Amino acid sequence: MATDTAPPQAPTPQGAEGGYVQPEVDVPALQALLDGRYAEVRNLVRSNLDDYAGVLEDAETLSRDDYRERVKEIVVEMAATGQTGMGFPQEYGGGGDIGASVAAFETLAFGDLSVLVKVGVQFGLFGGAILQLGTKEHHDAYLAPLITGELMGCFAMTESGHGSNVQALGTVATYDLATQEFVITTTTDDARKDYIGNAAKHAEVAVVFAQLEVAGASEGVHAFVVPIRKGGEPCAGVRIEDDGLKMGLNGVDNGRLWFDQVRVPRTALLNRFADVTPSGVYESAITNPNKRFFTMLGTLVQGRVCVGGAGINASKVALTIATKYALRRRQFEASSEDEEELILDYGMHQRRLFPLLADTYALHFAQEVVASRLHDVFSGITDDEHTRRELESRAAGTKAYGTWHATRTIQECREACGGAGYLSVNRFAALKADTDVFTTFEGDNHVLLQLVAKGLLTDYSSDFSDLDQFGMVKFVAGLAVETVLERTAVHKLLERIKDVLPGGDDGWDQEAGLLDPDYQLAMLRFREEHMLGGVARRLKRGIDQGMNPGVVFSRVQDHVIGAARAHVERLVLEAFVERTRQLPEGDLKVALNLLCDLHALSTIEADRAWFMEHGRLTSQRSKAISREVSSLCRKIRPLAGDLVDAFGVPDAMLRSPELVGPLGS
Ligand SMILES: Cc1cc2nc3c(=O)[nH]c(=O)nc-3n(C[C@H](O)[C@H](O)[C@H](O)COP(=O)(O)OP(=O)(O)OC[C@H]3O[C@@H](n4cnc5c(N)ncnc54)[C@H](O)[C@@H]3O)c2cc1C
Repeated sequence: MATDTAPPQAPTPQGAEGGYVQPEVDVPALQALLDGRYAEVRNLVRSNLDDYAGVLEDAETLSRDDYRERVKEIVVEMAATGQTGMGFPQEYGGGGDIGASVAAFETLAFGDLSVLVKVGVQFGLFGGAILQLGTKEHHDAYLAPLITGELMGCFAMTESGHGSNVQALGTVATYDLATQEFVITTTTDDARKDYIGNAAKHAEVAVVFAQLEVAGASEGVHAFVVPIRKGGEPCAGVRIEDDGLKMGLNGVDNGRLWFDQVRVPRTALLNRFADVTPSGVYESAITNPNKRFFTMLGTLVQGRVCVGGAGINASKVALTIATKYALRRRQFEASSEDEEELILDYGMHQRRLFPLLADTYALHFAQEVVASRLHDVFSGITDDEHTRRELESRAAGTKAYGTWHATRTIQECREACGGAGYLSVNRFAALKADTDVFTTFEGDNHVLLQLVAKGLLTDYSSDFSDLDQFGMVKFVAGLAVETVLERTAVHKLLERIKDVLPGGDDGWDQEAGLLDPDYQLAMLRFREEHMLGGVARRLKRGIDQGMNPGVVFSRVQDHVIGAARAHVERLVLEAFVERTRQLPEGDLKVALNLLCDLHALSTIEADRAWFMEHGRLTSQRSKAISREVSSLCRKIRPLAGDLVDAFGVPDAMLRSPELVGPLGS
């Protein structure tokens, strides 16, 4: 037990409250619950992480070039174990299981994150684009060698001029009827591809996103397979530059690409959604160009799901180290004159770490929902337009929440380890630097939350999947606010919940027990619906006043982001509540309920000003929530070591034995 070093009787003054009996945590059982149906896959990755644990030190000691080579070597060697190809079709040497590939990727995030990101670029972005946007000819040509790592590739979407606004890319692919080739051109310096992982050193092939031009007409952004390097040298017409030293992830070779009239055959177009005939006719089953574009991008959602999961798992590493340290580290005499107090017994330390621990558990279960929906949609188990849109929105929201959570948690855990946390050997330097960009790549978080809000305001209707920001503003402004709200799932849920809570509409928040999950959910649902209504009202008012839709949207944007955040927080809590409800009665359920209550109440506490402003929290009740949060922290204190052990972060990934104690403790 990791709590060996804890005092025999940890302070739980409220232990007898309401018949509460302190649960015992069965760590292997909790780990099995967290690992879920992919426990075997996760264990395979854990054992690979152990085998390559030396890379954590290599990251600090090797030159940048050597580190990059070492990371590449590891990625290719891991590919041979099958762990990186689990999502690809079996006929090409993959595992045919999308859920397994997400689980493998998430688990890899316990280790060196350059290895993780190189895997993401090669198999997720490059391989994913070939698989999802290409057809059989492309699959036959590329999938088998890319799955083994024999063919290295990159995903060249972003340009120096445009990252988030992909529809405005400047690279052009013009169809040349005479030779039946596409000519790829970087039209301006802003249109150079930038930050492209694998491009500076290792990729031989790039999936290049460019504006397709056929017979003088622009058909929008499409993807092309373009050879960029042969025998280590750039191909004719391709210029490559290294992006240089980065804030983190220096084992990944990010670079810039320019294309000077580079010719590729007609079949280089990844043509699942659109094609150009030899005679130069553009064809697509999706007639609306916006809808076609969003459909294409929608197929690449797995990358977003993976990055969100990786952020959550990186948080687990940080929390494991900080908690184990706090179970060993003593500072100042407090409750005894004989020995100094363990820092985890300080109320403030508990307040700093445990809500983050609870949020991490909540996010773990929310991520489980996203990953399983991704698996179902992409395996054809449930695949309709509405489900896809909902999945895209949920993936965007969980990615944003999960990666921001990582940034915040890693920083707090670093500080919680004091000066020791600052030493590179103790992992925080790499964790901080390497996860920082998770909030930006695979979609900037603020931009992603706007996507979430758009889905909410249009109820994920396929008729509106092609709406741009302005179209969306006009659409929402054209509806009565009540209509917008009535269409949302949260409205229906809120109606139901109001009926079951005591006190009717006026008194429901005054009467219900703080630890009643229905009360907690009702609070988050109320906030979400109210914020959404506020956005709809403001958009409508702006348009009614004759303002430009773009200006209206911009003015309302903070409310848009607020509504999306409220939505994601509600989904995360719902996932946690539903998962704990399914558990049989017993200690595990008691322990997870403590975490779930802590997550819910600390979420409400963090936004108590809003709830008070909107008449949903009296000052008395707000204070009661703060007291309850502290009380829950004290109850979690004796379980903390076990709760982080259940994450199953391999000992070798924690490094720093002087911080976390003898390995295996
Ligand atoms: C290490 C690293 C690896 C990468 N790997 C790849 C790769 O392999 N392939 C690839 O194609 N790309 C890659 N990228 C690029 C990455 O996906 C982009 O950086 C990202 O999409 C953001 O685009 P941007 O940098 O142009 O930022 P911008 O889109 O310019 O955003 C800048 C800021 O403006 C804000 N902003 C933007 N639009 C709005 C709006 N409408 N409303 C309000 N605020 C807004 C954003 O929130 C952000 O804070 C990588 C980037 C990095 C740093």
